[in-house]
Amino acid sequence: MSDENGKDGGPCERPRILIVDDIPANIKSLNAILADDYNVIFATDWRKGLELAGRMSPDIVLLDIMMPDMDGYEICRRLKSESETREIPVIFITALDSEADEEKGLSYGAADYITKPFRPAIVRLRVRNHLQLKLQRDRLESLTMTDGMTEIANRRRFDQHLDEEWRRCARMHIPLSAIMMDIDNFKAFNDNYGHTAGDDCIRDIAQALARVPTRAGDLVARYGGEEFACLLPGTDAEGALTIAERLLDAVNDLAIPHAWSNVTDSVSISAGVGTVVPTGDGEPEGLIRMADEMLYKAKNAGRNRVAAP
Ligand code: GH3
Ligand code: MG
Ligand code: MG
Repeated sequence: MSDENGKDGGPCERPRILIVDDIPANIKSLNAILADDYNVIFATDWRKGLELAGRMSPDIVLLDIMMPDMDGYEICRRLKSESETREIPVIFITALDSEADEEKGLSYGAADYITKPFRPAIVRLRVRNHLQLKLQRDRLESLTMTDGMTEIANRRRFDQHLDEEWRRCARMHIPLSAIMMDIDNFKAFNDNYGHTAGDDCIRDIAQALARVPTRAGDLVARYGGEEFACLLPGTDAEGALTIAERLLDAVNDLAIPHAWSNVTDSVSISAGVGTVVPTGDGEPEGLIRMADEMLYKAKNAGRNRVAAP
């Protein structure tokens, strides 16, 4: 048991369970039941509980109800009202065993309600069942956010990320940059090498582009047919220009032959950069429009280049 298991472990990392209970002995007994199969993290007060739930993305939260300062109902309500923690199943484990208490707990959005004294085998099975459902939902969610052909983020994921990062950057008064990209002379590539080679080309470019930005929050997505978009939260105009140049280099480094390009003898892209410090009443669409206009400028200026305001 630890309160700081790494969040970004490998693919075989075990599911993470957060226990919030003010009495350490209760945490110990739950830990004894669950530690063999899961990474257990814990908090003995609401503040730490909410903080860990937001920061460590547990797959399930086991929540006591009677606690000083803030009860479990209120903690559950807060978890369900934040987009980062809304989807985490909450199981109440409580000595409150009246029908009214159970009804209240479930009405707050809890997935389950277990009364103390609990039977270890039942806790283990209920946790396992809720985890299976949660992990299935996660897999489906990730499929709906991935472009099937290139396996990078799709337009839907990009738009969602843009909305979230717009609001976060507005709160923090930090810049948000976007880069719009489009493959140069791609129609001629398809016409001469065939559509299958065209698909392979899009796939290779997508994979190469996705490897370029590395900060948490950075995202490269397939925006449409042969168009890509990159979002860089907390990156200013100068930083975004550097990344855009690297994105171009990554494609040129692939050196995919394109004898019908009027730019170079291999496949290239053009890129447009936009940067704003978002405001609460502003709209993310304006940032994309700015980057799009710059992309248009890069195309007109001869392609295989970056344009920035
Ligand atoms: P520009 O340098 O101005 O961008 O010229 P372009 O030829 O790339 O521009 P245009 O928009 O005319 O052509 C885009 C081409 O991309 C046409 C379309 O058939 C092709 N395309 C879009 N999506 C796919 C895809 O998924 N697979 C393949 N093979 N081709 C695609
Ligand atoms: Mg295009
Ligand atoms: Mg194009």
